Amino acid sequence: MTAATTPRPGPIRSRPRLRRLASAAPERVADGVWLLRGGLTRTMNVYLLEEPDGPGVTVYDAGEKGMAGAIVAAAEQLGGITRVVLSHGDTDHRGSAPALRAHADVLCHPDAVAQAEGSGGRDYWRKDELPLDARLLHGFTHRFVWDGGPVRIDGTVEEGDLVAGFEVIELPGHAPGLVGLWRARDRVALVSDCFYMTDMHGRPQPPAVPLDEYNLDTAQAKRSIAKLAALRPAIVLPGHLGPLTGPDVVAQLEAASA
Ligand SMILES: [Zn+2]
Repeated sequence: MTAATTPRPGPIRSRPRLRRLASAAPERVADGVWLLRGGLTRTMNVYLLEEPDGPGVTVYDAGEKGMAGAIVAAAEQLGGITRVVLSHGDTDHRGSAPALRAHADVLCHPDAVAQAEGSGGRDYWRKDELPLDARLLHGFTHRFVWDGGPVRIDGTVEEGDLVAGFEVIELPGHAPGLVGLWRARDRVALVSDCFYMTDMHGRPQPPAVPLDEYNLDTAQAKRSIAKLAALRPAIVLPGHLGPLTGPDVVAQLEAASA
């Protein structure tokens, strides 16, 4: 079945009280960029990007599955969802994408399609190498809290494509086909899991290469952090916690890439 003929789910209706449990109110973090912090610990980031040439927003990353109603409600205040771009196919980034597909097409990089439509990263993760407590906690949350399951991908984006006034940049390593978004005019980068600002228990930490057990290729992930540092961004918006701002953004990225 092609994407065009794949049945879509019905539109999402949700109750305000449930939406407030799933996500904090949208926060403006750059010109035309809104951050939704989702999940119980508010560490799951979904971004709404105002379309420069018309109404509506691009949704960048889909967070965990319980955030779908909050994403749709926040997007409606801004003219509705024009498209959903997944940074990569991991469970905690495609979470609400199957439900959001009722409202708009879902896109990702060609190299991320297999994970988005398939295992959600489980094909290559090495969770047996995590400490036992993290392994148990992650096993539960991936399956029951984060993952919304496979999502049909309607189209793809690659390096240099334009999305809501941002340029697509390829930052693979943590996951196959991980893409960020870069806007040179105010040096804003959305980079998802190019680096982590949380440790394996969800506690804040300075930017670091993602956990080796969850990476496709950690050496490549470090090269992608170096590629990001070379752009000399002023505001970097990651997939969990953040934003990363201030005078030493580039130095922190360079340290994470070493
Ligand atoms: Zn993640």
